[in-house]
Amino acid sequence: MNTLHRLDGRLYLEGVALDTLAERFGTPLYIYSRQALEAAYRAYAEAFAATPHLICYAVKASSNLAILNLFARLGAGFDIVSGGELARVLAAGGDPGKVVFSGVGKTADEMRAALDAGILCFNVESASELHRLNRVAGEMGKIAPVSFRVNPDVDPKTHPYISTGLKENKFGVPIADAPALYRLAASLPNLRITGIDCHIGSQLIDLSPLADAADRVLALVDSLAAEGIALHHIDLGGGVGIRYRDETPPDLAAYGRALAARFAGRQERLLLEPGRSLVGNAGLLLTRIEYLKPGEDKHFAIVDAAMNDLMRPALYEAYHEIVAVNERSAQAKRYDIVGPICETGDFIGFARDLAIEEGDLLALLSAGAYGMSMASNYNSRPRAAEVLIDKNEIHLIRERETLGSMMAGERLVD
Ligand SMILES: *Cc1c(COP(=O)(O)O)cnc(C)c1O
Repeated sequence: MNTLHRLDGRLYLEGVALDTLAERFGTPLYIYSRQALEAAYRAYAEAFAATPHLICYAVKASSNLAILNLFARLGAGFDIVSGGELARVLAAGGDPGKVVFSGVGKTADEMRAALDAGILCFNVESASELHRLNRVAGEMGKIAPVSFRVNPDVDPKTHPYISTGLKENKFGVPIADAPALYRLAASLPNLRITGIDCHIGSQLIDLSPLADAADRVLALVDSLAAEGIALHHIDLGGGVGIRYRDETPPDLAAYGRALAARFAGRQERLLLEPGRSLVGNAGLLLTRIEYLKPGEDKHFAIVDAAMNDLMRPALYEAYHEIVAVNERSAQAKRYDIVGPICETGDFIGFARDLAIEEGDLLALLSAGAYGMSMASNYNSRPRAAEVLIDKNEIHLIRERETLGSMMAGERLVD
């Protein structure tokens, strides 16, 4: 289904014209397509159907309760990185028994909340964390389910863009240290070994590093089994890329086949932690042009969305396609699209050819992942509203932040 399409010059998401949403809810406005969200999930479910698996949606990509609830209803588990994300999953009706808890800095409070909820496992990232988890579980009279996040150190020469799977970064434990850590975990009284985890990076557009990482993890699992440490699941993380511009992301069906071949005859269940690839292209950010500012060398379009709403361009120099919501017949000019924030880094996109006038609407595409979930109040800008489209139905899934709620919690001193 073509969820984003143009009809008589107007841009629609599913059955709803985007300009009507701007009138009703204001801008900047995040808008998601239910069909696109569900299609992305089903694509995973189908691609991995041959292998017993659990898809744990990485909540940090987009954490609105309505989106979590849609995935929960499709049977998804969740990959969380904080106690806040755990609370969201529970509030959205997610099954705690399908939650994996990642992250290098889990606090004792977060561990207690996750043990209380009864999560599937902790993806432990250091020996210190393991000892803390053993102590916290012991204090609660519980047994904590443990999986180590290993760092498979996928060859940087063949895959130079991988940012989290290399020896020198903060994530995971070196794969060479894993056997000793599993033995340590087996010796601690309040832990139960359940699995293994890796996550080598994000926006991967090539299958081979994912397959390389899988091979390294499977070899480790086999050597652990040989010494009597049996695992119940193998979590190969997220990281599958999406099309922002002209990328050709990995074919999920091919990834599914590659893993099916490797998992055939194995006992362990496959876990995956996709974030971006489930939501990225299901959402966009709608913004209105406040001013056009002609220049000698170039023109600026100053819009009402900024780096506090969509941080990816400023943070990663990420590219988002920008399209006019209502087509004009005029000649296109080249613009830098920038926000109103007092930072040179506050840009949305450079050198875009658009036929636009002040007051027009722009759609910033592929903004469903790491968009709203990274939004802040910088420059005291209330955070945007979020809307979910379901065919012709319009659901406000998050109200625009008010000035009052933005300042709530702050106090003057005597
Ligand atoms: C961010 C993250 C993911 C999701 O990554 P995507 O690139 O969005 O698929 C999965 N697992 C862990 C541990 C993460 O930190």
